[in-house]
Amino acid sequence: MGKTIVNYIERIKNIGNPPLQITFIMIDETFHIVDEEHLDSHQTLQQSLHILEHFILQPAEQQQFLQMIINKTDDSMKVRYKRQDQSPICVQIQSVPILLEKQYYLIILTPLDSNTSGLFTATTNDIIILETSFENKIQKICTEMESLHDVVMTFTYTKEESVPLITSRSFQDFETSMITEEERNQHLQMQGEGLKDLALHQLTKYFAQQNGYDGSYFLPIYTKEQEAIGYFLIYMNAERTIEMLDGRFQEKLTQIVQLLDKISMYEQQIEALKTTDHVVNLPSYDEFVQQLKRFKQQGKIGVVKIIKAGEFSNVVGLYGRPAGEELLRQLWQRLSKESASEDSLIARFTSSALIMFTPIDFQTLLHQQTKLSDDVKDSFFIFDQQVHITLKVGIAPFDANTTVHDVVRFAEYALAKARQIHGAHTEFYTSRYDDILGREMMLLNHLKSAIQNKEITAYFQPKYAVYNGKIASVEALARWISPEFGFVSPVEFIALAENAGLIKDLELHILETVFTWQQQRQYDGKRIVPVAVNVSPDHFYHPHFIQNLKHLLTKYYADPKYVIIEVTENMGLFDFERANEIINKLQTLGIVTSIDDFGVGYSSLSYLQKFSFNELKIDRSFIMKIDELATQKIVKAIIDIAHTLEMDVIAEGVETKEQLEILKAIRCDGIQGYYYSKPLPIDQASKLIDVEREKSK
Ligand code: C2E
Ligand code: CA
Ligand code: CA
Repeated sequence: MGKTIVNYIERIKNIGNPPLQITFIMIDETFHIVDEEHLDSHQTLQQSLHILEHFILQPAEQQQFLQMIINKTDDSMKVRYKRQDQSPICVQIQSVPILLEKQYYLIILTPLDSNTSGLFTATTNDIIILETSFENKIQKICTEMESLHDVVMTFTYTKEESVPLITSRSFQDFETSMITEEERNQHLQMQGEGLKDLALHQLTKYFAQQNGYDGSYFLPIYTKEQEAIGYFLIYMNAERTIEMLDGRFQEKLTQIVQLLDKISMYEQQIEALKTTDHVVNLPSYDEFVQQLKRFKQQGKIGVVKIIKAGEFSNVVGLYGRPAGEELLRQLWQRLSKESASEDSLIARFTSSALIMFTPIDFQTLLHQQTKLSDDVKDSFFIFDQQVHITLKVGIAPFDANTTVHDVVRFAEYALAKARQIHGAHTEFYTSRYDDILGREMMLLNHLKSAIQNKEITAYFQPKYAVYNGKIASVEALARWISPEFGFVSPVEFIALAENAGLIKDLELHILETVFTWQQQRQYDGKRIVPVAVNVSPDHFYHPHFIQNLKHLLTKYYADPKYVIIEVTENMGLFDFERANEIINKLQTLGIVTSIDDFGVGYSSLSYLQKFSFNELKIDRSFIMKIDELATQKIVKAIIDIAHTLEMDVIAEGVETKEQLEILKAIRCDGIQGYYYSKPLPIDQASKLIDVEREKSK
């Protein structure tokens, strides 16, 4: 069973005496119990199994039950079950696709003990931070519970110090009406400090008494790092027995538990694939980036090094790929020994390079001119062969002014310099740092006029349908070929435009370009191809976004079904409800919606069912590793789930025939990438489409 769930159960156990029993049982399609875990409060496991027996082991019902599971279209279902001599139970049955196999997860909630005052509330770790909609859901549950039962039930999470970011409405009212200013401040202050040692629990008891409630139930919310970031809290009266709350509450509780469970399961699957690199079994680059971002938030500084084994390709050529992987593992071990500090990080960067963070001051390092120790440089023994490796190192400072993205870029830059120098070499990134910042300033100065003067144009990259191998649509990608700077990468200028508030204008210009093209083709009697346009969060959430789109559609007599709006995956996290509202509006207009770069960022499969996108684009980073079985499995899982939700799946960055074949085999619907075509100037893309038309005539 997933570790999160086990932790979660442990935590609930420690909290005290929950008047509710939860049994988690995982079964497979033959009703074989794969795993079980239960929360022992009043009942024994024996009793829960007894309940299960009734569900599972009686042959007649077994068939029925199996049928129920197989037939259901929904991801989860609930069965309320009452036996004569027993109190009602609520069974949540949930199917969890564990990679390729399906397993079912039963969560059995047995009644709350009516003698116990206090309620049990469930929660778990940092998932809450990631899931905005989850938060909304909880708030709704709180409100509903309160309206029914005259309790104050709240879910709060505090992120920084003692500032509450979210608390339910009723709790705010409660606080303002019943608590004096002084008490309130005390409360807030305690939240910050108290969450750490759970002293808040005592305080809430006190507040409950002060305000005419007899008791409170308090449950902190932890992150994976065991940091308390919020809590569930209920103020209630003692005469309120649990039975009064029973039915509704159990149902709501079931929802919470279900949601948490589902999210954590998916999260874990993806996490496992992300945090370790399965080829070499080393921490992955994604994990490194995430951790470094956390360090940045904590204000840690240091240096980032990229260490590359110069003769790597020779080693692979001579002794095979496993030898190369072994070399990387050994190098990793040596470097880990070198920097045993707690805050050091080392991960796989590429197949031949590692990336490292060391919490050391850059200036100090520069003065010491520290080189890699002889230990690290010593020969390696790979499968009994002695090999000598020349190490190339690029080092860049990581400080308050540098983003994770930039520091890696700078270290790579330094590495490139190191590689131009003969022999083992360490290159420090220094003056060029300023050059780059200077360049950004210069680019920014020109960007605005570039947008106005239409220096920025669009290239089209086709997306091919797998079923007939033909162009299904194209994606418009912004291109800036500047008289001063030459070709500027969109990765660079899009970020600049976003930061400078210019992205909306840029994208409107791209949209006009697209509509002009479609209109021209219409006049010429040529095939109209749907065009995907990338939309940045700033633009997407702009109050005039839909209005502007409508205006352009009318102006160019464009057919909305030929417009695809691509948004990146972590979009919804800003504001889930608004995102969904906008997506629905787009779809009502007849515009196709696509979720871009899926799988990076805050990916979670559960996230998918909350939005109604028409298309999902699997990020290139997955496609690059699609020859690895672990990646294949997760991509297949994504495709299967997307298909269940009636989305088309496009693979991005397909470069080889092998990748294409694998993707075909796992039922990917569309392909985009250099294998078929690079992004092309508009007239070339037009020709490509026309030629195809000719052929098929
Ligand atoms: P994206 O939306 O993920 O676009 C795909 C990127 O992958 C493009 O990079 C494309 O040239 C590249 N690509 C496509 N197939 C392959 C392949 O087989 N191998 C490799 N290595 N790369 C491939 P490009 O054109 O440099 O654009 C980079 C990013 O800039 C885009 O990523 C998108 O996020 C952003 N961008 C471009 N135009 C716009 C725009 O108008 N608005 C916004 N918001 N972002 C844009
Ligand atoms: Ca895109
Ligand atoms: Ca993409």
